Amino acid sequence: VVPRQTLSFGHQFASELGELAVPWQAEEAPDPRLLVLNESLAAELDLGPSWLRGPEGLRLLTGHLVPDGATPVAQAYAGHQFGGYSPRLGDGRALLLGEVADRAGRLVDIHLKGSGRTPFARGGDGLAAVGPMLREYVTGEAMHALGVPTTRSLAVVGTGRQVQRETLLPGAVLTRVASSHLRVGTFQYARATGDTDLLRRLADHAIRRHHPEAAAAENPYLALFEAVVAGQAQLVARWMLVGFVHGVMNTDNMTISGETIDYGPCAFMEAVDPATVYSSIDTGGRYAYGNQPGVAQWNLARLAEALLPLLHTEQEQAIELATGSLETFSAQFASAWSNGMRAKLGLADRVSAEVVEPLVAELLSLLQDNHVDHTSFYRRLGDAARGDAEPARDLFLDRAGFDDWAGRWLALGPQAQRMDRVNPVYIPRNHLVEEALAAGSEGDLDPIVRLLGAVTDPYRERPGLERYAEPAPTDFGRYRTYC
Ligand code: AMP
Ligand code: MG
Ligand code: MG
Repeated sequence: VVPRQTLSFGHQFASELGELAVPWQAEEAPDPRLLVLNESLAAELDLGPSWLRGPEGLRLLTGHLVPDGATPVAQAYAGHQFGGYSPRLGDGRALLLGEVADRAGRLVDIHLKGSGRTPFARGGDGLAAVGPMLREYVTGEAMHALGVPTTRSLAVVGTGRQVQRETLLPGAVLTRVASSHLRVGTFQYARATGDTDLLRRLADHAIRRHHPEAAAAENPYLALFEAVVAGQAQLVARWMLVGFVHGVMNTDNMTISGETIDYGPCAFMEAVDPATVYSSIDTGGRYAYGNQPGVAQWNLARLAEALLPLLHTEQEQAIELATGSLETFSAQFASAWSNGMRAKLGLADRVSAEVVEPLVAELLSLLQDNHVDHTSFYRRLGDAARGDAEPARDLFLDRAGFDDWAGRWLALGPQAQRMDRVNPVYIPRNHLVEEALAAGSEGDLDPIVRLLGAVTDPYRERPGLERYAEPAPTDFGRYRTYC
């Protein structure tokens, strides 16, 4: 197979939804340097890594080479940020280059983040610093390896331009690959224009792209809404099972595709606690670990409001339809979560829900009371299923409490092998991410490459990677993330 040297771009979004797309150009990168390249994703896109590493590749990855068919645009969207509505957000520092087909024939967006100011930039500088772009790269690729639906990262390229934050930092552009960048906020924006034809074209575009089966439904737009509800219920359950805290679940950061998007102040929870918050700006804990399912449902209610004119000609009936569908979220989330917990605990389907549910509830309070590290616990529980309970037991102060729980769990015949396939050894631990981002910002990419090596193959324990499996040392202190 000869890797193709340039991608053949489509511009469906830009041409079908011109009202939501502002044609725009990337800012010049004075001295582009490739920091990380995702070779396996490049292969999926049929892009030659050696071409991408070369001068033309770097121009593509910074937005200067505009390939045939590509129409770089900034996308318009609105959004509720921490509950407050902003009618005009949009890509302030990002561009959609267009859509390409991957090797499997699936259409994906190629999108640049940190490519300069756009008409949506408001007070922002349109730029991104190396550290946060590396964070998106490593966290997103870890999520992908964990089987969680997510946007992907193709590359991070240093621009050679300084970015003013609290201090001067080196700038970068991230190339993001996503099944689309349609957000709840995209629908909010279209609805707010009052142009129902635009709203319908947007919904039809979303149906074609993500939920084609909805087109055949009796009420296609209700079916679209239901598909998004189902996707988000699954997604947030996956987040909860791996201990992921998104950190900024604004409606502009929630996709229609069901992929995780926008890795800003996100982090993985260590000591189990539903109140876990890392983001420095989430002072009220709105987006705390344990609040994520409720927030997802709240965001979906905003999507429902945006879709109302398409659901029924009578508003009252439209509301009734949307409410009925929205109410299924809780049960769908609960079922995805319990199935996931059953797998984490290695329990067969024949063990009844009446037995599993109280056992899970009891475990969660034990883990929280004992400040047990989420990821280590489930992985070590696999050893307990194989007859060695000591490593898991060591994580508890209340040994008797653990023994009592573990005795009842062991009596159900947990299957260790099944557990090892769903309980990761390696996640992007906060202290290791910080260490890798700090080194990467100084030009030393070895730590991020090693961290990526661990977290992109998360279930297979390997010698020499012990430090990647351990929680932060206590002197790391309380972790704070910034957008
Ligand atoms: P986020 O919190 O990253 O999801 O971004 C929220 C909004 O702020 C979006 O409209 C972004 O495009 C915009 N934004 C964030 N950072 C910048 C920046 N440095 N320059 C311009 N716009 C930005
Ligand atoms: Mg965003
Ligand atoms: Mg962001």
